[in-house]
Amino acid sequence: MHSKLNRLIAGLTTGFLSGAGLAWWLARYDPLGQVGYQALQQPVIGEVELPFRIDPTRLRRDTEALSAISVRRSGTPGEIQARNWVRERFRAVGLHNVQLSLVVYPRWRRRSRSQLTFFTPAPYDPQFVVLAGSAATAAPGLEANLVDLGGGTETDYLLRVGRGLKGTVHLITQRSESRRELVRRAMRYGAAAVILAHGKPSPKGKAIIENGTAVLLGRVPALAVSNETARYLQGKLARGPVRALLHINVGYGPSYTFNVSGEIPGQRSEYVVLAAHHDAWYAGAADNAAGVACLLELARVWRESRLRPYRTVRFVSYAAEEDGLMGSLFDVITRAALVKARCRGVVTPDVVGVAGGMLRFGGYPSQLVQAAADLAQDLGYNEATGYAIATQGAPVYGDHWPYAQLHLPALLVSKGPDPFYHTPYDLPDRLDYEDLRWTASIAGAMALRLAQR
Ligand SMILES: [Zn+2]
Repeated sequence: MHSKLNRLIAGLTTGFLSGAGLAWWLARYDPLGQVGYQALQQPVIGEVELPFRIDPTRLRRDTEALSAISVRRSGTPGEIQARNWVRERFRAVGLHNVQLSLVVYPRWRRRSRSQLTFFTPAPYDPQFVVLAGSAATAAPGLEANLVDLGGGTETDYLLRVGRGLKGTVHLITQRSESRRELVRRAMRYGAAAVILAHGKPSPKGKAIIENGTAVLLGRVPALAVSNETARYLQGKLARGPVRALLHINVGYGPSYTFNVSGEIPGQRSEYVVLAAHHDAWYAGAADNAAGVACLLELARVWRESRLRPYRTVRFVSYAAEEDGLMGSLFDVITRAALVKARCRGVVTPDVVGVAGGMLRFGGYPSQLVQAAADLAQDLGYNEATGYAIATQGAPVYGDHWPYAQLHLPALLVSKGPDPFYHTPYDLPDRLDYEDLRWTASIAGAMALRLAQR
C-alpha cells in the first residue's frame, strides 16, 4: 500500500515537472517568431466579421474566367494572358501597389514529340505524358526491360533487390507517396527510366494521366500513364518479358516570367502574404484558378470594409509553381533578408473547391497548422455540418514552402483528394463554390490573425 502511494506521488511529480518543463521550453522556443503563439489563440480583431461576406457567385465567375485561359503552363501564351488578367483583377478590386516582378528560372520543356512503345512482344503504344524535370534519352533512344515495382515503396524495392533493378524501366503505381519521392527512389535503385501509373482506375470515357513535375533536373526519363495501361502491362509481364522503347525529347533552358502582387497597406512595414498561383497544366480550375479567386474575393471584401490591418497584407499570384515552385522560390530567395526581416507568415489556398474529401491543412510549424484546423471547426466547418478536415504532418509542397524554409509561419490549405488533379478534367463546373467560400474565409481569417498584433 505504502509503496503504491509512493509510486503514485512519484508519477504525478514527474508528470507535473515534465509538463512544466515543456511549457517552459515552448515559452522560450517560439517557432512563430515575432508573431507569437499567443496571436493565434486570440480571436480576429477589427472591423471584419467572420466568416467574411464572401460571395460564391463571384468566386465562381473568377474561377471560370481564369480557367478559360487554358493551358497556362509557364512559358506559354496562356500564362502571359493569365498574369495580365490577374493584374487587371488585382487593380479592379482595389489593391494598392499592383505590380509584376521578374522571375528568372530554368524552364523544362518538351522539345518535340516523344515516343513510348512496349513490345509485349506485339508493339503497344499507350497514351502517356512526359513529366516535367524528366531527362531526355540519347539517340537512338532507350531500350530496356520493364519491371513492375508495385507501389514503388521501400518495401517493394527491397523485395526485388538482386532481380535486375539496375538499367531497367521501373513501372510504379502511384498510391500515397509523392511523385518526387517515387522518382528519387527509382533513381537510387538504378532505374534507366520511371513510369508512374495513376493509382486509381479512370472513370468511364476519361483516361486519367496525372501530369506534373517529377523531380528537378531528373537524371532519368520520367513518364506518366493511366492505371489501365499499368494493369494491361502487368498482365503481359505475368506471361513473359516486356521490352520498353523510349525516345524522349525534352530539356531545360533559361527562361523568365512574372509574379503579380498587390497590397492592402497596414500600419507597419511588416507584412503577411496571401498566395496562389496562376499557372496550370491545363484549365487548372481547382489548381489553382480557385485559389486566385479566393485572393480576389478576400481583397474585394477587405477593401470594401476599409480594413486597415496592423501588418500589410500582400497578395501574390505566383508564376511557374507547377515548374517546381519557381515563382515563389525566386521571390523569397532573391529577397531573403527582407523577407526574413519583414514577413510574418504566408497562407496559400492551392487545389481548393473540390467537392467531397477533406479540407487539409499543412505547413510549418505544427501549431499554426493545428490553429487553422481548430479555427475551421470553430467557424462551423466540421463533422456536425457535414464537412471533414485533416492536418498533414509530412512536408507538403506549395508556394508556402520557400517561406517555411526561412522558418516563417507557412500554411497550405487544400481540398481533396482530387480525382482530376493535374488532368484536363480539372474544370470549373465540377467545383463546389459553397465549399470554396469556406476555404476563402478560413484562409483569410488565418492571414488576418498573422496580420494582427
Ligand atoms: Zn497548384
